Amino acid sequence: MGINQNQFIAQFPILKQQINKYPLVYFDNAATTQKPQMVIDRISNYYTNFNSNIHRGVHHLSQKATDAYEKARISVKDFIHATSSKEIIFTKGTTDSINLLAFSFGETFLKEGDEIIVSELEHHSNIVPWQMLCERKKAKLRVIPVNDEGDLLLNEYSKLLNERTRLVAVGHVSNALGTLNPVKKIIDLAHKNKSLVLIDGAQAIAHISVNVQDLDCDFYAFSSHKMYGPMGIGVLFGKKNLLEQLQPYQGGGEMIASVSFEKTTYNELPFKFEAGTPNVADVLGLEAAIEFIQKEGIENLAVLEEEVLNYATSEFQKIDRIQIIGKAKNKVGVLSFLIDGIHPYDVGTILDQMGIAVRTGNHCAEPIMKRMGIRGTIRASFSAYNTKEEIDRFVQAIHKTIEMFG
Ligand code: PMP
Repeated sequence: MGINQNQFIAQFPILKQQINKYPLVYFDNAATTQKPQMVIDRISNYYTNFNSNIHRGVHHLSQKATDAYEKARISVKDFIHATSSKEIIFTKGTTDSINLLAFSFGETFLKEGDEIIVSELEHHSNIVPWQMLCERKKAKLRVIPVNDEGDLLLNEYSKLLNERTRLVAVGHVSNALGTLNPVKKIIDLAHKNKSLVLIDGAQAIAHISVNVQDLDCDFYAFSSHKMYGPMGIGVLFGKKNLLEQLQPYQGGGEMIASVSFEKTTYNELPFKFEAGTPNVADVLGLEAAIEFIQKEGIENLAVLEEEVLNYATSEFQKIDRIQIIGKAKNKVGVLSFLIDGIHPYDVGTILDQMGIAVRTGNHCAEPIMKRMGIRGTIRASFSAYNTKEEIDRFVQAIHKTIEMFG
């Protein structure tokens, strides 16, 4: 059962505009996706009708907001197939989720000489918090290398695992190259080694049906704004028995059971990790984004995205001066490339003049750029509202750019 793409596109008001007198072509979805009207309306409805602080009010609005917030937590739990809503911690986004885990995991489990494994493909958000932690604890950061195509070298990964490996932190999908990592295998190998695993799901959550029980990952992080939801909200999933053992990240209201100057005790899960007034409006927006994805069917969205990626890849392969960066066996939604002799920034600027939004640079993934021997790429990242006609315009615009630069 497919979806009608025109009806799908019509739900995104921002896509109706023109940029530089051209209809907008938005190919920057790995940075953030656009928002459908139902997400925008949900946030507006909260502020219009029941804005109130939650969990501590006895009055009507506070109770209504609390109920809505906790119902959204259940929607997130169902969406990623967690076993309990206690396993769903609301954060500011993927970066915040990983920093929370790096702090709390580090304080609880990491000792001098222990090791953490990341990969060469990671976004800076899944490198720097671990680096900071390793510095603090005198632990060691180990790195899974990739091959020239951008696939992780699993043999090398196996060799890195040892009795000091406490945690493996890898992305589900690479934001820079689009590589879909074999996370189930990575998790399985880690568990056989008695190591825990965090999956950075920032680039997977809008494209792949995520089942944390089936993956058996210990932690999973993602951002709402990359899955049609609002910015400023994200999730850290963690297995309940692990979250229960972890030290809290931030202190403040909400995260405590009782406070005295002699001794403070912490609240139960998930509140132990949610200090301060939460972002209620955007949690409700995230719930609307989940409903939106479920209404359309994530598999249907993936079919459209794959068609566009395959079409773009085959059209780009026909252009002489194009070099595609990242040719992994399994890719999701990202076409990273260079044009011989033209700086990526210049390409991005010319494309913008023709109404086409792409990203240029290192995509917050300097190590993988270095591995590929480049400074950056031009990245087109797709969503289900992108069409083959847009790819045709993109290809024409690339030819024009090449002509202009000679
Ligand atoms: N990890 C990956 C793979 C990403 O693509 C991103 C966003 N570009 C992040 C982490 C960070 O997400 P956020 O900025 O929403 O915290």
